[in-house]
Amino acid sequence: MVSVERLPKPVQESYEWQYRAACSGLDSAQFFAPASERGPKRERREAAAKAICATCPVIQECLDHALAVREPFGVWGGLTAPEREDLRRTRPRVTLRRSA
Ligand code: SF4
Repeated sequence: MVSVERLPKPVQESYEWQYRAACSGLDSAQFFAPASERGPKRERREAAAKAICATCPVIQECLDHALAVREPFGVWGGLTAPEREDLRRTRPRVTLRRSA
């Protein structure tokens, strides 16, 4: 019998969570900073984006995706890019070992 467990998931299945996103249909500018944005204006925009994420039914899927692809911009899964990078660095890594 052929095992398909190790094959990658179909693309549509991998991204279906996005159909349930709380940000679906909203202005993406809420989640992605203009290059010149700094200081309190940036903090307010990110806080508003994070408030939307906090209500999102797929926040974990979104964060997992952003971490997996090392998404370098925007608020994903309730975290900014620097926050995701911090999480990625401190998160324990899973390694597979073969028994001898
Ligand atoms: S967690 Fe935030 S960025 Fe991710 S899908 Fe939900 S609302 Fe959008």
